[in-house]
Amino acid sequence: MRTPLVMLLAALGIPTVALAQAASAPAAAQDPIAQLVARLDLEQYKATIKGLTQFGDRRQGTDRNRAAVNWIEAQLRSYGCSDVSRLKYDYQPLSSPSPGEPALSAAKGRGEQGVRPAAGGGRYRGVRARTGVNNDSLRQPDTRLRALDAPASTPGAREEVYCTKVGSVHPGEMYIVGAHMDGIGWGEAANDDGSGTALVMQLARIFSGPDVRTDRSIRFILWNNEETGLNGSRAYVEQRQALQGKEDPPGSGRYPEPTWLGMIQHDMMLFDHGMPRSDGTLSPEQRPEADVNIEFQASAKFAAQAQQLAWTFQAANEKYATDYPASVGSHMTNTDSAPFQDYVPAISLRENERGAQIGAGWDPNWHQPTDLYATYSDKDFRLGLNAAQTTLAALAGLVEATVK
Ligand SMILES: [Zn+2]
Repeated sequence: MRTPLVMLLAALGIPTVALAQAASAPAAAQDPIAQLVARLDLEQYKATIKGLTQFGDRRQGTDRNRAAVNWIEAQLRSYGCSDVSRLKYDYQPLSSPSPGEPALSAAKGRGEQGVRPAAGGGRYRGVRARTGVNNDSLRQPDTRLRALDAPASTPGAREEVYCTKVGSVHPGEMYIVGAHMDGIGWGEAANDDGSGTALVMQLARIFSGPDVRTDRSIRFILWNNEETGLNGSRAYVEQRQALQGKEDPPGSGRYPEPTWLGMIQHDMMLFDHGMPRSDGTLSPEQRPEADVNIEFQASAKFAAQAQQLAWTFQAANEKYATDYPASVGSHMTNTDSAPFQDYVPAISLRENERGAQIGAGWDPNWHQPTDLYATYSDKDFRLGLNAAQTTLAALAGLVEATVK
């Protein structure tokens, strides 16, 4: 019915919305990025988070942590991400406490003249609620989970797993896509950071599809020991930085450590219920204006390039994410992309800004016994899925992915 009008207007040289729609429909069908984003699925994302929670809080240096690493590796292999390796390092805890923010005794600000500096360089604004790490097993009411989380961490050998999608044109260049698989707090570490780990695993699944080709390589890595001070990602930088771009053996076309093009971290992807109320409580529902926070660090050596990368992700969100928008901020902090930030463009994606928002108590389940799969609704899980859509779309463009 529309066709005669379109033909008439076209003949008259008048651009129309209908004409644009007619032209864009087949173009969208052939857009490989749209095709890949369509392979993300809320139920599969949720099932992967649920799978991770069978290992409780996955605290580093425990059997449940090692079992989770094995499970993640088995999943990656089942997706066809068969170029799998493990980084091995030793962890000896220092006598100093973990780098978590000191707990607040009350919802009060600090500093002078109304300026309250937050971690990473931002400012606390408005109401600030209590934060901290729960170390009391008895605050976990579920006795099965309490027992699962009970064995303590022991110092010593550690492993973290990664798999690589090898680029067809530039195998010696790669983007690193990460999340940390260890947790704390006597819960299930479902959000921190099962949500980021599952996101990275789902991207590994999609990019490993037999019909997917990428010009450049992508490394999917699940860091260990994040909660003790980024020890797993620091070990990776220390061990592998000097190996970048070396073909080994020479002439083989194999690059055990492709040159780093960027590092993209995912940590706590689900919960954006807004600022705490003056009584310290939060909205029980995801706020309708929830967003994915893409952060770079303004003080990093690669700040300019990282900012450019962040805007590339924001643009990918605008084009491909189904529900929630993305915001860019300049205060990336306390995350596994930090050890990379002076060597390569590094960004992180989160449910909120880490410094001024999460640090101000915007996530009441952070490092708490309530960080359980059952705590979150589909509106929460959908924020994580939108972050997955964002990274998948941005990455597919950066590595020039095609679908056969
Ligand atoms: Zn985390």
